[in-house]
Amino acid sequence: MSILEVRGLRKTYGPITAVHDISFEVQAGEVFTIIGPNGAGKTTTLEMIEGLQEPDAGAITFDGLTWAKDAERIKFRIGVQPQSSAMFDLLTVEENLDLFATFYPKSRTTAEVLEMINLTEHKKKRVKALSGGQKQRLAIGLGMISDPEIIFLDEPTTGLDPQARRNIWDIILKLKTMGKTTILTTHYMEEAEKLSDRVCIVDQGRVVSLDTPAALIERLTKEREVRLTFQDGEEAAIATEQVAQNQPTVVRTAREGTTLQLWTVQPEETLYGVFGFTKERGYRVEQVSIREMSLEDVFIAFTGKEWRD
Ligand code: ATP
Repeated sequence: MSILEVRGLRKTYGPITAVHDISFEVQAGEVFTIIGPNGAGKTTTLEMIEGLQEPDAGAITFDGLTWAKDAERIKFRIGVQPQSSAMFDLLTVEENLDLFATFYPKSRTTAEVLEMINLTEHKKKRVKALSGGQKQRLAIGLGMISDPEIIFLDEPTTGLDPQARRNIWDIILKLKTMGKTTILTTHYMEEAEKLSDRVCIVDQGRVVSLDTPAALIERLTKEREVRLTFQDGEEAAIATEQVAQNQPTVVRTAREGTTLQLWTVQPEETLYGVFGFTKERGYRVEQVSIREMSLEDVFIAFTGKEWRD
C-alpha cells in the first residue's frame, strides 16, 4: 500500500532549478532512500514533502491527504528529525524529549523513546555534553516522540564514525520492525544498500533510477570481478590471463604485476578453467576474491559521477 505519493515535483530558486521533475511512491513500512550527488535536490525534495517548502509544481499526497487541505492531520502522521540547532543545549536529553512531547496531542512516553534510541543511560546528560552520535540519536528520538507513521531522516549519519553510524542503523532497523515508514537521505552507499528496501537515485533534480538495491545492481550487470594474485611472479599472471581471455564466460581482463583481474558472468566456470590451467602448470595462487557489483558501481553508471564519502 502506498503511503506517500509524489508527482511531478518542481522547485526553482531564481535562475536555479533545484528540482526539475521528481515522482515516486513510498510503500507503508519500507525504508526508502534518496541518494544523489551534491546539489542533486535531495534536501529540497524532502523539505517540500515535509511541508517546509512550497513546490512550484507537482502534487504530494499522504494516503489521500494534501498539505493544502489536511496540514494538521499530516503533521501528526509524520515525524521529522530536527536539526541539532532546534535542541535545547542546556536541557537534558530527557527534558528535551518531554518538551517536544508537549507539542503534540498524543505522544510516546519519554522512557519508551529513550529505550528506542538507546539513550536511557544518558537521560540526565545535558545535550551540550553528548557526542555527535548521541545527539543524532536524540534528534531521531525527537522526530519519533509523536509516534508518527512516517519518519524523515535527512543524512542522519553524516560525519559520524563507523560505530556511531551503526548505532543509527540499528534504530532505523528497529523502526522497520515497528512497521514505521522511513524516508532517508544518505551520503553512504553501504548504508543505502544495507538498510533500504528501495533506493531512489536522484541527479540534477530528476529521478534517474528507482528500485531495490539488488535489482539496481542486477539491472546494471551480472558481471563479477575475480581477482587472483600469483606467488610465482608476473609470468604466471600473464600466461593465465591469456588462457582466461579464451574462455567464453570472461568478458574482459586486466593485469597489474602479479595480480590478475577477470570480469566474468559465471565466476565458478571461470575459476574451474583458470585453476585447471594453474594446476597443470604448477602455479601457486596466493589470493582469490570475487567481488559483486556494489551500489556505488550502479550510482557511477547512472550519474557518471564518483561518489563522495
Ligand atoms: P547535498 O547533498 O549537498 O545536501 P542536495 O541534493 O540536498 O545536496 P539541495 O540542497 O536540494 O541538494 O540543492 C539543490 C540545488 O538547489 C543546489 O544547486 C542548491 O545550491 C540550490 N538551492 C537549494 N536551496 C536553495 C535556496 N534556498 N536558494 C537558492 N538555491 C538553493
